[in-house]
Amino acid sequence: MNIQENVLLSPYTTFHLGGPARFFVCVQTIDEAREALAFAAKRSLPVLILGGGSNMLIGDRGFPGLVIKMECCGIEYVEGEGNTTVIAGAGEEWDPFVAQMVAKGFWGVENLSGIPGTVGAAPVQNIGAYGVEAKETIMWVEAIDRESGDLVRIPNSDCAFGYRSSTFKSKPDRYCIVRVAFSLRTSGTPNLSYKDLREHFTGDATPSLAAIREFLLATRARKLPDIRHEGCAGSFFLNPCVSQERASMLATRYPQLPQYPAPHGVKVSLAWLLDHALDMRGARIGGARLYEQQPLVLVADTSATANDVLALRDVVAKKMRDMFAIEIESEVKIIL
Ligand SMILES: Cc1cc2nc3c(=O)[nH]c(=O)nc-3n(C[C@H](O)[C@H](O)[C@H](O)COP(=O)(O)OP(=O)(O)OC[C@H]3O[C@@H](n4cnc5c(N)ncnc54)[C@H](O)[C@@H]3O)c2cc1C
Repeated sequence: MNIQENVLLSPYTTFHLGGPARFFVCVQTIDEAREALAFAAKRSLPVLILGGGSNMLIGDRGFPGLVIKMECCGIEYVEGEGNTTVIAGAGEEWDPFVAQMVAKGFWGVENLSGIPGTVGAAPVQNIGAYGVEAKETIMWVEAIDRESGDLVRIPNSDCAFGYRSSTFKSKPDRYCIVRVAFSLRTSGTPNLSYKDLREHFTGDATPSLAAIREFLLATRARKLPDIRHEGCAGSFFLNPCVSQERASMLATRYPQLPQYPAPHGVKVSLAWLLDHALDMRGARIGGARLYEQQPLVLVADTSATANDVLALRDVVAKKMRDMFAIEIESEVKIIL
C-alpha cells in the first residue's frame, strides 16, 4: 500500500475541482482497505472514501485527512433459476459494468446506462435514472463496518434505500463498501415507464437491452455536459419534497409544474421552477453556471473554483427560499 502525501484531488473528481488531500491511497483489496482505515484511525484522521468522484464537490482547501480511493475490482456470477446473482467489486466502473450486463443479456440495470462512477457508490445514493433505481436489483452490500472493524453483509431490506438516499449516505463515516451483489433476470421485460423511453419505443413494446442502452447513451449525451471538457457532478440538487398543501398552491400558480407522489409529501421538479419560475437557466457566477440544457446541473468551466460553484448554489437556495419558502438540499456530497 502506497500512502502518498499532499495529492491534488481535482483530477479525481468530475468537477475537476478540489485542493490537496493530506494523505491519499488507492486500495485494491479488502485487506488494503482495512490497513488504510487503521492508518487513519491510529492518527485520528478523518477519512473520505472516493470512487469516481462524480458525486462530490471538494473545496479549494482540499481534505485534511486520508482519502481512500476504492479500486477493489472483480465480477463473479452465480447462476440461479431465471436470474443470475452478479457480485461486483466496489471499484468496478459503473457504466462498463452495465455494458457487460447488457452484453450478457441480463436485465435490470440497463436503464442506468451512462451514469459515471463506481459500483461501490451505486448503493450510497441509490442511483436512479429513467424510471429505475439501483435498489431494485441490489441484493446485498458488503462493507467494512468502521465501528467494529468487521466485514458485514447488509441485505437490501436493511439499507434504508429511498430517493437518492440510503443508510450509507446517512451514516457516511460508518461503512466502507467493498462488494455489491445484484440479482439480474436472464429474461425480462423492458421498463419503459419513463416518458422519453415510452415515446421513443412507441410501436416496439419489447426493445432489446442493447437498443435501450444505445438510446439512453445518446439521450444523456444530448442532455448532460461532457465531463471530459466541463466539470459537473450530474444533478447538483435534489428535487424538493413539499407538503400536499404547498404542492396544491404551486399547481394553482404553475399548472405546468411536474409533481410526483413521494413517501412524505409531493416531489416537485426543481429544474422546472429554476427554468420557468425563476428564469435561472444559464445563470452564472465566475466560472460556474446552471447548465443550459438542464438547470439542475451546475457546470464548472476551466476557470471555475469550488467557491464559484458554492456561491451559485447559495444564490439558487436563497431564491427558492425567498420566492417559495422551500429549502433545497444538495444531492452532491460537499467536502469543505
Ligand atoms: C454527468 C453525470 C451524470 C450523472 N447522472 C446520474 C444519474 O442519472 N443518476 C444518479 O443517481 N446519479 C448520477 N450522477 C451522480 C454520480 O454519477 C453517482 O452518484 C455515482 O454513483 C457516484 O459514483 P462515484 O464512484 O463517482 O462516487 P463518488 O463521487 O466518489 O462518491 C460519492 C459518495 O459515495 C461515497 N462512496 C463512494 N464509494 C464508496 C464506497 N466504496 N464505500 C462507501 N462510500 C463510498 C463517497 O464517500 C461519497 O459520499 C451523475 C454524475 C455525472 C457527473
